[in-house]
Amino acid sequence: CAKEEGRGRWTRYDPAMDEEREERNNMELDLREAIERQEISVAFQPVVDARSLDMVGVEALARWTRKGHGNVPPDVFIPIAESTGLIDQLGLCVLRNACLALRQWPDLSLAVNVSPGQFRDPAFATYVEDVLHDTGTDASRITLEMTETYFIQNPARARGALERLKQTGVKIALDDFGSGFSSVGYLRQFHFDRMKIDRSLVESLGQNDRALDVLKATVSLARALDIPVTAEGVETDVQVSALKLAGCDLLQGYFFGRPMSEREIAARRGVQPVSLSKRA
Ligand code: C2E
Ligand code: MG
Ligand code: MG
Ligand code: MG
Repeated sequence: CAKEEGRGRWTRYDPAMDEEREERNNMELDLREAIERQEISVAFQPVVDARSLDMVGVEALARWTRKGHGNVPPDVFIPIAESTGLIDQLGLCVLRNACLALRQWPDLSLAVNVSPGQFRDPAFATYVEDVLHDTGTDASRITLEMTETYFIQNPARARGALERLKQTGVKIALDDFGSGFSSVGYLRQFHFDRMKIDRSLVESLGQNDRALDVLKATVSLARALDIPVTAEGVETDVQVSALKLAGCDLLQGYFFGRPMSEREIAARRGVQPVSLSKRA
């Protein structure tokens, strides 16, 4: 603590702060150990085609069961991994395991989340190529999802990193669009292969009259730039209708399936073979 606060500032002693810091340190140690022991698992959430409602892909989501504490949500452990540099190893481990699972599902595509810290690393594209090569994965089946932060903060460097990553053949999706600044400027500057509309925009559908107009305007913007759109956090059939009407081509949310194990994805596909559920 002394190291962090020793910048000539006096801080009042606060036992609660110490406890918080200690808990964070403990969590960091446990996370480090879990990553080393390869105890971070991957859940897969179905992504469906908006017209046929067939499953066409999955999003890989990191899961951590902390010993003695139960499941820790990614919104808690991902920021810790990011601030401690553990995210590089964690992220590649998720990518590798998801690519291995993908081998059983030749007709599905795979989305994997990437943190700014990973993307910033000049070697990141090479790491991705190595994982794809080792697991025998066709790059065109992979979409890496990123949020806007790094694109806004370092546009010049982000452009270079994005181009290098695209050379590997993977696609890049802009995640959580509509949750932050969501500016037209960077959408035009960077060539994203997909836009994911944030859950908060989808959630407001049916709650107020403007929500549908805002959603339609957002999808129109993406279409004007030739960017296909996935809607996230779809929970009701009312939302499904509105999102189809607005022109989203892919849908994802609890309505179609929660993030689940590899086995559950396989079981679901057994019940609903792709060939039978396909409609014109
Ligand atoms: P995200 O990439 O935007 O992923 C979507 C989140 O929304 C997931 O939360 C998912 O479980 C949740 N979700 C999906 N459908 C619904 C729905 O219908 N209703 C509601 N209420 N929620 C829904 P999750 O798994 O807790 O992950 C949270 C975030 O943590 C992710 O947001 C992503 O930003 C980050 N994350 C997860 N795994 C990784 C990873 O391997 N690497 C990195 N860098 N970030 C990850
Ligand atoms: Mg995502
Ligand atoms: Mg998202
Ligand atoms: Mg998110």
